[in-house]
Amino acid sequence: MKKTIPSEQKTSEQTSVLLRALPSMAAVLDALCLPLRDDPDTTALCASLLADVPRPLLRDGINDFLDRCRASIRQGRIKNPAELSLAVLLPQTIRHTAKICAPHFRRVLNATGVVLHTNLGRSLLAEKAAEAVCEAARHYANLEFDLETGERGSRYSHVEELICRLTGADAALVVNNNAAAVLLMLDTLCRDREVVISRGELVEIGGGFRIPTVMEKSGCILREVGTTNRTHLEDYVSAICERTAALLKVHTSNYRIVGFTKAVPRRDIAALAREKGLPLLEDLGSGILADPGMPHLSDEPTVGKVLKDGVDVVTFSGDKVLGGPQAGIIAGKAEYIDRIKKNPLNRALRIDKLTLAALESTLRLHLDPELARRHIPTLHMLCMDEQQLQGKADALAAVLKASLPEGGENIGITVGRGDSRAGGGTFPESDLPTRLVCVTSADFTPNALQKALLHVDPPVLARVENDALCFDPRTLRNEEFSLVAAALRSVLA
Ligand SMILES: *Cc1c(COP(=O)(O)O)cnc(C)c1O
Repeated sequence: MKKTIPSEQKTSEQTSVLLRALPSMAAVLDALCLPLRDDPDTTALCASLLADVPRPLLRDGINDFLDRCRASIRQGRIKNPAELSLAVLLPQTIRHTAKICAPHFRRVLNATGVVLHTNLGRSLLAEKAAEAVCEAARHYANLEFDLETGERGSRYSHVEELICRLTGADAALVVNNNAAAVLLMLDTLCRDREVVISRGELVEIGGGFRIPTVMEKSGCILREVGTTNRTHLEDYVSAICERTAALLKVHTSNYRIVGFTKAVPRRDIAALAREKGLPLLEDLGSGILADPGMPHLSDEPTVGKVLKDGVDVVTFSGDKVLGGPQAGIIAGKAEYIDRIKKNPLNRALRIDKLTLAALESTLRLHLDPELARRHIPTLHMLCMDEQQLQGKADALAAVLKASLPEGGENIGITVGRGDSRAGGGTFPESDLPTRLVCVTSADFTPNALQKALLHVDPPVLARVENDALCFDPRTLRNEEFSLVAAALRSVLA
């Protein structure tokens, strides 16, 4: 981090005087520890730096600031020793250091309107689920301990019954995520044998999840049938042979083929699988537990329906429409689930205790669909109607207007129509009508504002649409409006 001065660049007398006047690391650290300061903000920041930041990081932060001061002196931007007094420098040092030493993984405000934004962590947990995570984090728990018998228990016991009750499955287990669930299912049931799948379902979900690749990794042989747009039952029939291990259906989560298309109804494939004595497996992606009354998702089958239609094993994500933590759920017939539970690979893909705590709590809420809709943020956000969104957008616009900086007459703030998205590779066609708060400025382009908002604390992610910076209130809580306003104010100032 130290910058050396090229020897030929003769430091002038003035520069050396200034460099010597710059406070030392020791002096800055001493000053940080001094409790007496008349500026309460600086005092509070000092206290939190000293309490929360490991000393080596604190030193790095201060060093970085002092290096920048040295550079400014050499470039002639600092000319007066008075600018280098501790009284002047300390507040700047502290702010710079606090910024540099902040944890890397941090909260952001999602004003994009993408509810299941994979890059922003998909689902927010229900309050109860978040509490359960804290409880599990702070204390020992009966993770793999049966309190009835006093003997070793199973980590799935906490959620298996709930999943069965919510889906009608005989048995279930949970793993790290849905990608792991698919891998484990195929590795257990199909290794070294063929899996028949329609060409219309060989999807790539994003983030590197491609069905053909996962199949290859699990050691099974892909037997694709039909064409991209049309697959018939006959295609499945003629592909089945003595090497066949299973038939697989995959939810085409993030795209639709429209026009001259044909897919075989799940029930017909199930009947064929039964006739041939083969299991029918399905990667359902999102996995809706109960019809939550979302008109735009009404075509999506629930997990219960899929199992009822004759699928033997189904997998889905914990953090898509289920609205829980990252997890992969595998549910279905006991004979297959028992084999999957015994696969040694399971140990490498297992779910951790914090996730289990959040998952159990989320699944309990799902037992009452009304409760789920009210308390699970993902469902709540997906179900918001246009009237609620209009109210939220008006409220956000008012908060933004009230906090505009001086000279705010160059700034336009209006409420207009737009679309939110479910996101997370789920339900591509279901644009959700919303209201957007659109900001225009005579001094900044929308793209410049969008970028600047990433550098405030907490950062705000917004969209640019129709030459305006747009905030979608669907993915913001009302308590967050003032934070968005403060952020906008600081970038416009
Ligand atoms: C999202 C999705 C996956 C991946 O699930 P993760 O929980 O992100 O691992 C796999 N298959 C389908 C069809 C999906 O929609």
